[in-house]
Amino acid sequence: MITAKEDFPILKNGLIYLDNSSTSQKPAKVILAIKEYYEQDNANVHRGIYKLAQKATVLYEKAHETVAKFIGADFEEVIFTKGTTEGLNLLAYSLGKNLKAGDEIVLSEMEHHSNIVPWQQIAEERGAVLKFIPVTKYFRLDLEKATELITEKTKIVSVVHLSNVLGTINPVKELAEMAHKVDAVMIVDAAQSVPHMPVDVKELSCDFMVFSGHKMCAPTGIGVLYGRKGLLEKMQPFLFGGDMIREVSFERASWNDLPWKFEAGTPNLAGAAGLMAAIEYLQETGMENITTHGQELTAYALEKLSAIPDVTIVGPASTENRGPVISFTVEGIHPHDASEMLDKENIAVRGGFHCAMPLFSKLGIDGSLRVSFYLYNTMEDVDRLVEAVKKMVGEMGTETNTINRSEIAPSDLTEEQEIYKENVIDHYKSPRNKKEMLQYTVKHREVNPLCGDIITIYVKTEGNNIEEISFTGNGCAISQASASLLTENLKGKNVEDAKRFNQQEVFGLLGIPISHTRTKCALLSLKTLHHAMEEI
Ligand code: PLP
Repeated sequence: MITAKEDFPILKNGLIYLDNSSTSQKPAKVILAIKEYYEQDNANVHRGIYKLAQKATVLYEKAHETVAKFIGADFEEVIFTKGTTEGLNLLAYSLGKNLKAGDEIVLSEMEHHSNIVPWQQIAEERGAVLKFIPVTKYFRLDLEKATELITEKTKIVSVVHLSNVLGTINPVKELAEMAHKVDAVMIVDAAQSVPHMPVDVKELSCDFMVFSGHKMCAPTGIGVLYGRKGLLEKMQPFLFGGDMIREVSFERASWNDLPWKFEAGTPNLAGAAGLMAAIEYLQETGMENITTHGQELTAYALEKLSAIPDVTIVGPASTENRGPVISFTVEGIHPHDASEMLDKENIAVRGGFHCAMPLFSKLGIDGSLRVSFYLYNTMEDVDRLVEAVKKMVGEMGTETNTINRSEIAPSDLTEEQEIYKENVIDHYKSPRNKKEMLQYTVKHREVNPLCGDIITIYVKTEGNNIEEISFTGNGCAISQASASLLTENLKGKNVEDAKRFNQQEVFGLLGIPISHTRTKCALLSLKTLHHAMEEI
């Protein structure tokens, strides 16, 4: 720990928060800055002449200046967005306008969905081609392949700085050099790096960089797009409206100076105040100290976790060029089930695909557990995590081949619910009707993107009757048991019964309390069934 947990009100209740790659917690200083903004400074910016409006404008512009200094940029080069996703969409839209058929966009295989999907959309629209720098078996980018992929056809290279799944820190400066040799622009997705290490845009030689405030102690809804001034000047705005204009007639409009040209509408003013306070907080702690602290926690956790039987680390084994993010799998336990079990120990971790489905399909794994540290985490947090994972493996791992019953449902159940719980465990361990059907009337596949559960349902009908029903897929205990119970229940019924089957009936089949977060798991098979039946 390099900052007091007490600085973070939400951590006062003993929660061990290890989901910092998703979003970080907020220190009291940031919460106060937001409160003070509304109590003392709130007015719209760049509009009113009165004193309060000027105060708000000065504060908002100071927030841009603070960010600019923090990342080594100029004031005009810092555009406030909603977050990394909006920044990448802005770039895809605006840079995409100049793309021609056959132009290439080079990404990597370890990108977050937000650095894939906007490019897919633009590529489709413009006839451009996406290329992906492969990930090696050591969880690093294959730079040799990168040199082959980045060619005269390449117009855009957009790569993540610190992977939110693997923890790998990529050599973005080297990639920028490759991009610039062929006159392509280099975009860095710094959502995970800016919160954890000193990042200077000039040093990285990138043309654009995007990140989110909420991962670095600031509030949600505020993020940053850095762009080289010369490039921003030539680019089309993404959003149009108030404040981004210089002059408007009924026929046309011209654009405001940078950075306001890219900030249409009333911006997130309180968010900007919060972001500025967050940067001050991080600077008071020291970015180098934050990096070192993250490395120490990561080295300790990697050593302890990899020593547990059934645990496999998904990411580089050493801490060299690695950030404070550790993904791992536990043999025999679905990540979603595992994260719920850890939650019962008051440890918050992520389980699933972490918005990087293509990476997981490349690695051939059904999601992972992910722990990610920040400045308030301690060695004791790692010890607690390791103990909880050991306990989970002891109760449920391959060596015991048993099921952790408390993960399926709480232990304070009525007698009737206990019977149902045994039934659910039985269906999870020995699923009924789990087989691919080759000759079917309808088939449908559904995915729960949150945790990566996948179910395919096959139905064969004879007239109005369901002659055969089966499913395939992977997923957590609840999703698998519910598919087994549902298909078992519908055998011999007719098409109308299947179409009418509803959520309450699925909960009835399970018969145990289902928490809000598991509802989607419990109902995935029903959703799949209903989509399949729509085709009949
Ligand atoms: N890129 C990376 C590497 C991320 O980790 C994330 C969020 O987890 C994003 C992009 C998207 O960030 P946001 O949801 O704040 O827009």
